[in-house]
Amino acid sequence: MVKDEYARVKEDTKGKEVDLTGCRLLVVDDEEINRDLLQRRLERRGFWVAGAKDGLEALRLIESQPFDLVLLDIMLPGIDGLEVLRRIRLQENLELPVVMVSAKDDSQGIVEALNIGANDYITKPVDFPVVLARIRTHLSHRRARAALRESEERYALAVAGANDGLWDWDLRSNRIYLSPRWKAMVGLETEEVSTETGEWFNRVHPDDVERLKSDLDDHLNQRTTTFENEHRMMHADGSYRWVLSRGMAVRDTAGAPYRMAGSQTDITARKVYDPLTGLPNRILFMDRLEHALQRFKRQKSELFGVLLLDLDRFKIVNEGLGHNLGDRLLIQLSRRLKTCVRTGDTIARFGGDEFIVLLDEMKDNADAVRVAERMQEALKKPFHIQGQEVFCTLSIGIALSTTGYDHPEDVVRDADTAMNRAKALGKARHEMFDRAMHTRSSQRLQTETDLRRALERDEFQVRYQAIVALEDKQLSGFEALIRWIHPKRGLVNPDDFISLAEETGLIINIDHWVMREACRQTVEWEKRYGPLTISVNLSAKQFAQPDLIERILSNLEYSKLSPENLKLEITESALMDNTDKAADIISSLKSHKIKLGLDDFGTGYSSLSYLHRFPVDTLKIDRSFVSRMDQSGENAAIIKTIVALAQNMDFQTVAEGIETDSQLASLKELDCRYGQGYLFSKPLTADEAEKLLQEYRGAPKV
Ligand code: C2E
Ligand code: CA
Ligand code: CA
Repeated sequence: MVKDEYARVKEDTKGKEVDLTGCRLLVVDDEEINRDLLQRRLERRGFWVAGAKDGLEALRLIESQPFDLVLLDIMLPGIDGLEVLRRIRLQENLELPVVMVSAKDDSQGIVEALNIGANDYITKPVDFPVVLARIRTHLSHRRARAALRESEERYALAVAGANDGLWDWDLRSNRIYLSPRWKAMVGLETEEVSTETGEWFNRVHPDDVERLKSDLDDHLNQRTTTFENEHRMMHADGSYRWVLSRGMAVRDTAGAPYRMAGSQTDITARKVYDPLTGLPNRILFMDRLEHALQRFKRQKSELFGVLLLDLDRFKIVNEGLGHNLGDRLLIQLSRRLKTCVRTGDTIARFGGDEFIVLLDEMKDNADAVRVAERMQEALKKPFHIQGQEVFCTLSIGIALSTTGYDHPEDVVRDADTAMNRAKALGKARHEMFDRAMHTRSSQRLQTETDLRRALERDEFQVRYQAIVALEDKQLSGFEALIRWIHPKRGLVNPDDFISLAEETGLIINIDHWVMREACRQTVEWEKRYGPLTISVNLSAKQFAQPDLIERILSNLEYSKLSPENLKLEITESALMDNTDKAADIISSLKSHKIKLGLDDFGTGYSSLSYLHRFPVDTLKIDRSFVSRMDQSGENAAIIKTIVALAQNMDFQTVAEGIETDSQLASLKELDCRYGQGYLFSKPLTADEAEKLLQEYRGAPKV
C-alpha cells in the first residue's frame, strides 16, 4: 500500500502546473545589482524573495525563517558558497533545495557542490527562464516529497496507532494480505496465517456470511462507493468477535476491480455493551449465563443465581422527569447497583428499565437473597437528578441454578416469572422462583386455554343471591354471580378466573352471556312470583365497550325484561378508568331507564366528590365495612356517612356481606335500605333460588 501511495502522489504532481506562488526563496549574491535584479524578476512571478549579501547573513536568515529554496552563489566574500552549503546540510536541513550559482568555468566548484549536497546548479550570467524552470522543478519535487511524507506518516499511524487490522486482497490471484494486527484480532500467531482468503471467510459466523458476501459483491459491482460490513469472526479461543470491516476496490481504467484493501476494527465491545450505562447488554449476559450453566452442569457445586430487576413505576418517572433525566436515573441506578455485587458478578442492562444480574460462584443460594436485600437497601436513599430527589424501587425475581436448567433462556424466564410475582405482591420486593410458581404459571396458561372453550361448552352457570329490603325483609331481587363448572376442577369461583378473563378480553362475551341468562331467568320468575330486580356485574373493560348499550338493549329485547328492573354493577375503578366516557354512558343508560350501581363502594377512591359527576342509582357498601362493624365504631361512622350522602343525593344503599343479626340491626339503625349476605342466602342455583322465592312470595301464580 505504501507503494500505491507513492504512485498516487507522483500522479498528482506530474505534468500539472503546480501553483508555487508564495513560495519563499533566498537569493545569496554579493553583487547588489545581480541580486536585486533576480529578486525583482522572481517577485514578479509571485515568489516571496529575500536577499543576502554574504554567507553569514544567508545562514542567519535560514536559521531564523523557513525557506523553500536557496539560490546560492559559490563565490562569496568571507565564507564561500560551498561552506554555506556544508553548514546548511550540517544543520540536518537536508530537505531545503539549494541551487548553486557558479561561474561558467568553475566545473570543480560545481562537482564539489553536488558532492556536498547541492540539488542543482546554474551558471552566470543567469538566463532567467532557465533559473525559473529549475526553481519550479525543485519546488514541485519538494511539494511531492512533503505530501508523500505526510501520507506515509498517516499510513504508519493507521497501521501502528489505531487498533485496526489491515487487509489487502489481490483479486486476480485471489490472495490476501492480512496484517499482524488483523491476525491478532482473531487470536492468531503471525506465522499461522497463509494468504488464503479462507483465512478470513471461513472464520465468519454462519449467520453473517451471506450479508458479508453481498456487501462485497455490491462494492465490486460499483453499487456502493465504499465497502462496509459488520460481522462476527471466530476467535482462536472459540468465541466470536464482532468486527467492522471497511474497504475500497482499486480499479483498472475500464473500471474492473483488480484489488481491494481496507481495515478491520474490533467492535465487540460496542456490540455487547449498553451505550447508556456501559453495562454488558443482553447478548453478553446470555453468553456468560450460558457459560455459568455449562460449568454448573459439569460441577454441581458451581452454583449460580440470576436476579431480574425491574424498576417499579419507571414509566411515571420517565414521563414526569423527561427522558433525559430518566436516562440519568438509569445511569446512577446502574452505578449504585454495581456496588451491591462482587467484581466477578455480571450486571447487565436487559432492556428499557430492566437489569439482570448473574451471581457466579455463589457459596449457597442464600447469597442471591442477600444481594437482592442489599439492592433494596441501597435504594432507600434518593437519587439526585438536576436538583430533584428521586426515589425508586425495584421488583426482583430470583432464579437459581439448583432448580435445574438446560437453557439460559429458561433461567431468565423463571426469574421473570418470579419478578412478576414480586410486582403482583406489591412491588419493591424480591421473590424467589420455585416449583409452586412454575405450577401456578403453567396452571394459568391451562386455565386460559380452558376458559376459551368454556362458553361454547356451556360450562358457566349463574348463581343468584337474594337482595332484601331491610325494613320489612321483603325480597326485592337477586344479584347474578357467575360460576364455572370445570370438567376436571369442578366448581371454580369467579375470583379465580375473572381477572384472567379480563386480561384476555374473554370477559366481554362471558358478561353478556351472564346478563342474557340472568334476564331470561328473571322474566320467567316474574311471571310466577311478581316483579324482581336483577343485578348484573360488569367488568371495567365491558363498561368501555362502544356497543355496550346496543348489546344490553338486544338482551332486554330478547328476554322482554323491563329495563328499570335491570341493574348494572360496576366498580369505582371502572368509572375512574373511563372518566371521559363514563358520563356519556351513564346518561345513555339513564335515557333507557337502565339502573346503575357502584359496587364495593368505599374501597376505591373514597372521594365522594365524583359522585356528583356520575349520578348512579345505587351504592353497594362494601363487605369489609359491614363485617368489621361489630368491632369498630369507625366503620359504623363511615357507613352512616355513606348512607346520609346517598339519601342526600337520592341514591339507594345496599349493604353487602351481612352475616349476623347484629350487623343487620346496626344497618337498619343507620337507615340502610337494602342488604345482601349469607344471613339471608348464599348465591344459589336457579332451582334453589326458586325455592327461596316461594318462601318469600308464596306459591307460583301459574
Ligand atoms: P361482588 O360483585 O362484590 O359479589 C359479592 C361477592 O361476595 C360474591 O362473591 C358473593 O358470593 C360474596 N358474598 C355475598 N354475601 C356474602 C357474605 O355474607 N359473606 C361473604 N364472606 N361473602 C359474601 P363471588 O360470587 O365469589 O364473586 C366474587 C366477585 O366476582 C364479585 O364480587 C364480582 O366482582 C365478580 N363477579 C361475579 N360474577 C361476575 C360476573 O358475572 N361478571 C363479572 N364481571 N364479575 C363477576
Ligand atoms: Ca357485585
Ligand atoms: Ca361487591
